[in-house]
Amino acid sequence: MSRIHLLSPRLANQIAAGEVVERPANIVKELVENALDAGALHIDIEAEQGGVKLLRIRDDGHGIDEEDLPLALSRHATSKIESLDDLEAVGTLGFRGEALASISSVTRLTLTSHSQNAELAWQVSTEGRDMNSSVSPAAHPVGTTVEVRDLFFNTPARRKFLRTEKTEFSHLEETVKRLALSRYDVAFSLRHNQKTIHSLRPAARTIDREKRVATLLSPQFIDSAVHLDVEAAGLQLEGWVGLPTFSRSQADMQYFFVNGRVVRDKLVAHAIKQAYRDVLFHGRHSAFVLYLWLDPRLVDVNVHPTKHEVRFRDGRLVHDFLFRTLHKALADIRPEHALTDAGGQHARDGVSMPTPVAPAISGREAGEFQAQPRLDWQATPNGGMQTVNASNGAADYAQAFQPQSYDRDRPSRQSIAEQMRGYGQMRGYGEMRGYEDTNKALPDTDSQDMPPLGFAIAQLHGVFVLAQNAHGLVIVDMHAAHERITYERLKTALDEQSIQRQPLLVPVTLHVSEREADTAEQYGEEFLNLGVELARVGPESLMIRQIPVLLQQAEVPQLITDMLGDLLEHGSSDRILAHRNELLSTMACHGSVRANRRLTLPEMNALLRDMEATERSGQCNHGRPTWTQMSMKELDKLFMRGQ
Ligand code: ADP
Ligand code: MG
Repeated sequence: MSRIHLLSPRLANQIAAGEVVERPANIVKELVENALDAGALHIDIEAEQGGVKLLRIRDDGHGIDEEDLPLALSRHATSKIESLDDLEAVGTLGFRGEALASISSVTRLTLTSHSQNAELAWQVSTEGRDMNSSVSPAAHPVGTTVEVRDLFFNTPARRKFLRTEKTEFSHLEETVKRLALSRYDVAFSLRHNQKTIHSLRPAARTIDREKRVATLLSPQFIDSAVHLDVEAAGLQLEGWVGLPTFSRSQADMQYFFVNGRVVRDKLVAHAIKQAYRDVLFHGRHSAFVLYLWLDPRLVDVNVHPTKHEVRFRDGRLVHDFLFRTLHKALADIRPEHALTDAGGQHARDGVSMPTPVAPAISGREAGEFQAQPRLDWQATPNGGMQTVNASNGAADYAQAFQPQSYDRDRPSRQSIAEQMRGYGQMRGYGEMRGYEDTNKALPDTDSQDMPPLGFAIAQLHGVFVLAQNAHGLVIVDMHAAHERITYERLKTALDEQSIQRQPLLVPVTLHVSEREADTAEQYGEEFLNLGVELARVGPESLMIRQIPVLLQQAEVPQLITDMLGDLLEHGSSDRILAHRNELLSTMACHGSVRANRRLTLPEMNALLRDMEATERSGQCNHGRPTWTQMSMKELDKLFMRGQ
């Protein structure tokens, strides 16, 4: 066996590099973060062969003094913190003092810098196992350039893990995107193999920021997103959330920043998912760009060398704040909102393309979701000529929503069913709501009192309601719209009563861990409020005595175990709520106007007014759009008017 000895500095750094340098994208992250920490306002990134051959990052930050240059390349050397106290409230992106040392141990790195305090620029690089540095004079404006060549030239085993140039570059570009989304005040440019990929100017105003987001994500995202900015309990959440009708097959448009640092955090992901739960089509992913700001002392960023993970001191508070804020933002989306928001966008950009105003048909490109498109609008590339196809229309529709009977003998369901029937009679959509005279000429479209969704003019094949509003034509999927309205009413009705409990004839014993049993005891009150009575009957066993009436069909032990898991991890559980809502949603579907039912104009108008007043009315319970808009401009284009 060999004797114990110290590793050479290069080898020690190469080992450390294993944690942070996996591919060119990681190097870009570290170097751009250094530039941002140095106060740079312009950062240019150049790459060759996916960044494996060459990376050059140039900034106009404050630079490094000549005598500090050798230190910059050595491990555990940083200008950013001095004491443990500094670490607790770290305000810079870096602080570990090992990025440059790690990178220069596995590449050919030269750092050139001109300090703002100096007359001249200097250049440094390292050699040999001891990584001795040599400094020489150079020419460079104030700021720093780091040039990195031949990644892993001296660690061939690691080079084998690199992917194709294209893949490496796409990782690199994604990293640049995140950095560019984290600092709108900084100009970024990215070049690959001598070609400019991005050139982003500083963006001060909201519209400029939205332009940057549109460039980096997609214009469809920003057209179908709402901006929010909410502050409470020392937390601030700002940014854009995609409307539920703009969903993705993958979680590839989800950007979350904590104090300007991009993170992937389980707690955050859970809170956001929970907020979208009620409005997103199953298996689809939401899109968002969100910034959370809080006192840096309340979040620990020193959890992982790449700092992609964070730990919140009060995780429950953060979870609760995120969930509530987003849930409300999504609930508040109304037809009015979508119209003014998107309308504004059009005016700003002066877009002449037939971009729909409503959220519903936007975002068709790039594989975005449009569930069951019943109308197909296609623009030919040359002339804006469009065709309209009615596909799987009335027939499927009627079939899909044939009246179905459900078991009325079950008391639990019956009470809901009754409520619903009562509701149906009460609302009836036969009532007049001040729009009684159907034969009267439609009100002036310019008039101030034109409601957002306008007034009904006709019904199409028993499926769609056509209406005229200030912008043009509104098309409503009447079943989907009514379903959402019914569902929201049922939820409110149930929220106002407490959840009814029912004793189990044969109580169920549940084997759990001791921690879970403790949790069950601790949250006894919460469980009761949700309709679940649990008793501890041993160190590792619980007895389920009562369950919510609504859930008597559910796989109760599984549900309770999952809830305990949620409580342990996040301090809250919405499973009963989610389950309950699923049931309500099914019922709402049965309780809603079916296709092929003729509605009178007053009935249609009543539906439109209800949509305007109902939370989340832009999508049906399954996340499909309930209505869409075709503006006069788009209609003109269809007929090539004024061209
Ligand atoms: P850290 O960022 O954790 O401090 P690094 O190894 O990334 O560690 O950088 C070491 C030091 O080099 C930094 O603390 C900083 O003082 C200096 N430095 C690195 N890059 C730059 C830059 N682009 N501009 C100015 N100073 C820099
Ligand atoms: Mg650094």
